[in-house]
Amino acid sequence: MTMKTLQQLLDEGVEDRHILVRSDFNVPLDEDGNITDAGRIDASLPTLKALLEGGAKVIVMAHLGRPKGEVNPKFSLKPVAEALSERLGQFVALAGDVSGEDAHERANGLTGGEILLLENVRFDPRETSKDEAERTEFAAELVALAADNGAFVSDGFGVVHRAQTSVYDVAKKLPAYAGYLVEKEVKTLSKVKDAPDHPYVVVLGGSKVSDKLGVIEALAAKADKVIIGGGMCYTFLAAQGYNVQNSLLQEDMIETCKDLIGRFGDKLLLPEDLIAASEFAKDAEKQTVAADAIPEGWMSLDIGPKTAARYGEALKSSKTVFWNGPMGVFEFPAFASGTKAVAEAMIAATKDNGSFTVVGGGDSAASVRILGLDEAGFSHISTGGGASLELIEGKELPGVAVLGQ
Ligand code: ADP
Ligand code: MG
Repeated sequence: MTMKTLQQLLDEGVEDRHILVRSDFNVPLDEDGNITDAGRIDASLPTLKALLEGGAKVIVMAHLGRPKGEVNPKFSLKPVAEALSERLGQFVALAGDVSGEDAHERANGLTGGEILLLENVRFDPRETSKDEAERTEFAAELVALAADNGAFVSDGFGVVHRAQTSVYDVAKKLPAYAGYLVEKEVKTLSKVKDAPDHPYVVVLGGSKVSDKLGVIEALAAKADKVIIGGGMCYTFLAAQGYNVQNSLLQEDMIETCKDLIGRFGDKLLLPEDLIAASEFAKDAEKQTVAADAIPEGWMSLDIGPKTAARYGEALKSSKTVFWNGPMGVFEFPAFASGTKAVAEAMIAATKDNGSFTVVGGGDSAASVRILGLDEAGFSHISTGGGASLELIEGKELPGVAVLGQ
């Protein structure tokens, strides 16, 4: 995979040129709209700083949450513009629209070394449209903002697995380059995909069961062990005939899980104990139970201590680890211990066993910081969840492939 890189663009020169950048600012917000983890904003800074230092007129495109193609102030990028201003030490203007009049006026008014953030690209339904003609039309509007010898820099690694307008279609209309973040992510994750040292352990959890059950097949074939926790483990426990009560469950995948257990049985590690909760709440009543003994009407929100210890042992002797998805609802401190144990075992493997340890997934990465663990203790923390999974699974990422054309 050859991509043109930001360094090549900087060598060509960016002074006074409009550079359209796709960044990933899809950060978690609390109920009051405050950013609870700015990891993705921090990860975007090297590319933005390099362009600004080069004298570019920078126009950034990004999305936040799922506004479903409608303008919704709840998903405005305003908090991001503020956080970005602070970190860059310069004013980041936020356009009042995505590709409308205000965006155009502000883009035209930029001088070299200034930066404009467009409003949430997903306010426009054409961003994620399956209809290529609609996306092409939207791409033309965005590209028109970059009137001064424009170029495109793709730096939102978290979205490169999507053929969306601001990721894919704009890249076809302008000279396109991989930003520092995308370049680093692709290089590092390709190492896990192409040449993992063994034992290679994959850890899967989180809440997006349907997205992730599908990848187990591809990963189980390559990995020596697949550790399963988080929301997806309950469909496996149900496949073993256990009553998972009100835990997350994807009934239409039970048969698939039975089949996976049949084929990969000894490679798949499933919980033997759990932390059950009376309700989905941070102050719920809780109880450590065997995996087949969740009290009636309760739900499991974390893996139990025996399971965490067994998973930790498997991780400590690894040489490569890829982790996607928390082991439990780590946002509630009472249900964070499984996630913490797995993360700590990965840190120990990195330090004591020279293991190459990669964290992929927005919430997994956030959990490392929120639980107060040392980010430097891992070999790499990816900013992309779905994108990192699809890359190591061996799928082509449209937003990366388009940079090689
Ligand atoms: P990532 O962003 O790392 O790819 P996901 O988005 O798939 O991970 O999932 C993260 C979410 O999964 C977290 O917010 C966490 O609360 C939730 N989660 C983990 N375990 C459970 C569980 N047992 N029940 C419900 N939600 C869970
Ligand atoms: Mg997530």
